[in-house]
Amino acid sequence: MNDLRSNERARTAIVIGGGVAGPVAALALQKAGIQAHVFEAYRPGTGSRGGPLTLASNGLNALRVVGADQVPAGAGIATPRMMIHSGSGKVLGTVESATELPVNMTLPRGRLAELLQEHAAAAGIPIVYGKRFVDAVDTGHSVIAQFDDHTTHEADLLIGCDGIRSTVRGLIDPAAPNPRYTGLVGLGGFSDDALGVGDTGGVFHMVFGREAFFGHVSDGRRTGWFANLPFKRFTREQMRATTYEQWIALMRKLFANDESAALRILDHVTPESFIPPSPLEDLPHVPVWSKGRIALIGDAAHATSPSSGQGASLAAESAVELARCLRDLPVPQAFKAYEQARRDRVERIIAVAARTNQSKAAGPIAARFRDALMPFFMERFTTPEKMSWQYAHTIDWDEPAASRV
Ligand SMILES: Cc1cc2nc3c(=O)[nH]c(=O)nc-3n(C[C@H](O)[C@H](O)[C@H](O)COP(=O)(O)OP(=O)(O)OC[C@H]3O[C@@H](n4cnc5c(N)ncnc54)[C@H](O)[C@@H]3O)c2cc1C
Repeated sequence: MNDLRSNERARTAIVIGGGVAGPVAALALQKAGIQAHVFEAYRPGTGSRGGPLTLASNGLNALRVVGADQVPAGAGIATPRMMIHSGSGKVLGTVESATELPVNMTLPRGRLAELLQEHAAAAGIPIVYGKRFVDAVDTGHSVIAQFDDHTTHEADLLIGCDGIRSTVRGLIDPAAPNPRYTGLVGLGGFSDDALGVGDTGGVFHMVFGREAFFGHVSDGRRTGWFANLPFKRFTREQMRATTYEQWIALMRKLFANDESAALRILDHVTPESFIPPSPLEDLPHVPVWSKGRIALIGDAAHATSPSSGQGASLAAESAVELARCLRDLPVPQAFKAYEQARRDRVERIIAVAARTNQSKAAGPIAARFRDALMPFFMERFTTPEKMSWQYAHTIDWDEPAASRV
């Protein structure tokens, strides 16, 4: 039986969710001397492989703290450069990683979670699969988690890493916001195939097309691609009612007049490698991140839309930051210090991505302004120096966490 007084450090933790935040949190907690069990709703190999996800240098910095920065390398394509184009083929700007930072890696989204789980398991962290968390009781000196198979697990604290539709979030704040639809539907894939395009030489090409947005990267053997299609409203029923062939036909129509690799790639895509569409969402402000002995990290607390290319990196950063605070401070002060260290940064990135979403869903007149003005802004504001607040962010694990309560 745990009995943790309010001035004592936590020794055990329950981590709900085995995506990105969960395994990284468990590894960081282990490094902080706190033994964590991870509980994941799905069984291994049953999740989607996912479309391309780029892990940015700041995310790799966070993974380095827990010895996992090399984890994505074998499965990914090194992507040091992003090149932005208009639908007419004009280069609107580039975003280049600073040479001293780890090189961004692009890999299938589902594969990243699998690799991190394998890494955590190899480090001796128990990962329990097929356990869906449903409820928790905070006894005041421990937390008892309840699962859908009627089993329970008790520890000093519970960390909700259960993603954008978090159950834990609703428990600590029944008035917590629901995800916000961005006006864009995302689809794509990651194939062990060139899909008709050549090696992009480490460049992720992004095209603000006339009707929709398209991105692709390839190393000549593997190709990741995605499309963002503007839809004012998009329901689950619409998604279910639209077939694979209809989505391909719609994309062919939307990208028909653009200078991009879209049509070539769509010629080679197969139903097996196609990730079904989903509405892109974010959570601009989750007011409550912790209550008692329960806290949230990752998408459960601060989901950014994919347009930032930062969701997984922020999840890894928050996992490391929370563990550092729990290493040095009693639980209530640790949760406060973690939130103070993280909230402004994550909400700023979420807001930047929301503005990018508006550009992706621009009508014809706004698109003309965008294409005319973007080169001016990109040249000035997306230099490695100007982007360093985002990409060069590092957490100094050795620095003691200070209580600001
Ligand atoms: C189309 C798309 C493209 C993206 N591209 C990028 C990108 O390029 N770069 C980037 O950094 N980010 C990207 N992201 C965002 C990134 O995927 C997320 O930010 C990241 O996965 C968040 O990690 P997480 O661990 O918080 O949540 P998740 O990865 O969602 O993991 C949550 C886990 O919790 C489990 N779970 C949920 N409920 C329960 C429960 N009740 N009990 C037990 N387990 C539960 C789920 O099964 C899941 O495994 C993209 C997202 C999308 C949708």
